[in-house]
Amino acid sequence: MKVYKFGGASIRDIERIKQMAVITRSTSSGKTLIVISAMGKTTNALEKVAEAFYDKRREEAITLFNTIKEQHLTIARELLIKEYPQAAEHLSGFFTEIEWLLHDNPVQEYDYYYDQVVCIGEMLSSAIISAYFNQEGIMNKWVDVRDILRTNDTFREAVIDWDISLQRTADTLKPLFGETDIVITQGFIGSTDENESTTLGREGSDYTAAVFANMLGAESITLWKDVAGVMSADPREFPEAVLLKELTYQEMTEIAYNGAKIIHPKTIKPLQDKNIPMYVKCFLDHSLPGTIIKNNN
Ligand code: ASP
Ligand code: MG
Repeated sequence: MKVYKFGGASIRDIERIKQMAVITRSTSSGKTLIVISAMGKTTNALEKVAEAFYDKRREEAITLFNTIKEQHLTIARELLIKEYPQAAEHLSGFFTEIEWLLHDNPVQEYDYYYDQVVCIGEMLSSAIISAYFNQEGIMNKWVDVRDILRTNDTFREAVIDWDISLQRTADTLKPLFGETDIVITQGFIGSTDENESTTLGREGSDYTAAVFANMLGAESITLWKDVAGVMSADPREFPEAVLLKELTYQEMTEIAYNGAKIIHPKTIKPLQDKNIPMYVKCFLDHSLPGTIIKNNN
């Protein structure tokens, strides 16, 4: 079993989603869990919807949400042919979830609404990509991660309940691999025991992928990024920066906590605990070696 994670930049438009299919087809073999972020800057756009709603600027919230909705429907229409009707129905369920909410008045804390609105980005991207993969013959099952990852109710910084999530991974996620080699799910989100959506902190999809790698006892995890791998410094500021081919968990943790935006800092611990190697690979050219992060031995 392997875990792949594709971030927002890797799926920001039709060309990149097609490229994602090429990468998956040519590099994955055997069982692979694919964890997906929201497309491009969708999370930022959804944050604006949540803010407008909470400030009681309802019309603005609805208009902003309609733009996001249209963007996703346009991409779905262009990518999908025979899978379109079913996918459109899938998407419209998520649109309705938000539209109902936007017609209410806010009575709870902001962070609660933030999570209910923002989590939709990952639901939409993963639904479109799952349908596209099936259409292209990359057979897969789509799963709502909120049925698997249980968290507490610290909205926007939710903490995973490992015992329950592990149990559900065994009961709900693993059996799907009996039906197809590829299962597609969402990064960054989970849900409480009352089925409220939660988010794990911005850029949290790397962390979700690592949590699943740990729970599934995966042989490796690959983060597909739009960079060549982990660099010694930010190449935009320091042209002499070089690619780091190999790092230990310790070194990677230090780099991540020192503010390099390459991976989410919480990602390393679940991998280190089970000695699972992590690859940071270039989405634009998958023949590049990238960086491997593992123990020194
Ligand atoms: N979509 C979320 C964000 O932009 C999570 C992620 O990309 O990892 O923060
Ligand atoms: Mg992102």
